[in-house]
Amino acid sequence: MISVVIPIYNEEKNIPLLFERLKNALETTAQPFELIYVNDGSKDQSISVIKGLAKGNYFVKYINFSRNFGHQIAVSAGLDLCKGTEVVIIDADGQDPPELIPELYKKLNEGFEIVYAKRKSRKGESALKLLTARWFYKILAKLTSIDIPMDTGDFRIIHRKVVDQINKMPEKQKFLRGQMAWVGFRQTFVEYDRDERMSGDTGYTFRKMFRLAMDGITSFSNFPLRVATISGFACAFIGFLLIIYTLYSRYVLKDYEPGWSSLMITIVFIGGIQLIGIGIIGEYISRIYDNIRNRPLYIVDETNISNENG
Ligand code: UDP
Ligand code: MG
Repeated sequence: MISVVIPIYNEEKNIPLLFERLKNALETTAQPFELIYVNDGSKDQSISVIKGLAKGNYFVKYINFSRNFGHQIAVSAGLDLCKGTEVVIIDADGQDPPELIPELYKKLNEGFEIVYAKRKSRKGESALKLLTARWFYKILAKLTSIDIPMDTGDFRIIHRKVVDQINKMPEKQKFLRGQMAWVGFRQTFVEYDRDERMSGDTGYTFRKMFRLAMDGITSFSNFPLRVATISGFACAFIGFLLIIYTLYSRYVLKDYEPGWSSLMITIVFIGGIQLIGIGIIGEYISRIYDNIRNRPLYIVDETNISNENG
């Protein structure tokens, strides 16, 4: 069976259209399938639209969160509860074309565990988003030892083997494309043109994107921590030279001014560096804290998925 995980945040207009497209695409694979809608605390009528679909179609499953937990967590919930041997992750806004699924499925059956969809072009996204996304992937590639593919989102098909590994990972900061790159197995990609979202606005505010970027970097690299240490050493070294120079001009050259301004500059500069360092350490500590607190990743208000095997 093929499971399709669809995270939903305020997508009431897109759900019916996407449903038809998904159904048509999946029927061409001649495999049984289930659609898992994860309603991530939508403020519109998304959940009633989904329940409407579930009434007439046995293969429509839903998980209704008690509030908005975020896209990555919504997908994680879908991975937890899906039953398929192959699992597709797809956005609900039509930016990821369901028509690509048969091709992804075919490729998977050629002997891969992960087939991700690589964006050849992206329509309807602001220049700022494209630029920041580019930078993010560049920085991530530099900082981390794992190979996270460029120009891919979470749109992909993965084998049950990968799903089981992902579900075993205990961390609360989900950066699924990073975690999937980390698990390994045989991975490949299929290229596609990314469309504009069918309707509605992006649910990824700048804040949410920044969070995702920070989670992506801190879950896979300790470099930011090392930056604090390195800049600390650099500052100490410069400070040391400064002391020697000050003593030299004071006692040897006997040429000095009571240097109030240079003092202030130094203090401010060092203070700034220290704050950066503390801030970075704080980022990691807050993540440690999130993990030891051991709260559930999400809270399910209701679902029509029975729990018999998991
Ligand atoms: N989404 C979600 N929770 C959120 C934000 C988004 O489940 O807090 C879903 C959204 O409904 C969509 C997918 O995640 O199916 C991608 O979101 P969006 O299209 O808003 O992001 P973008 O394509 O602009 O990066
Ligand atoms: Mg989108």
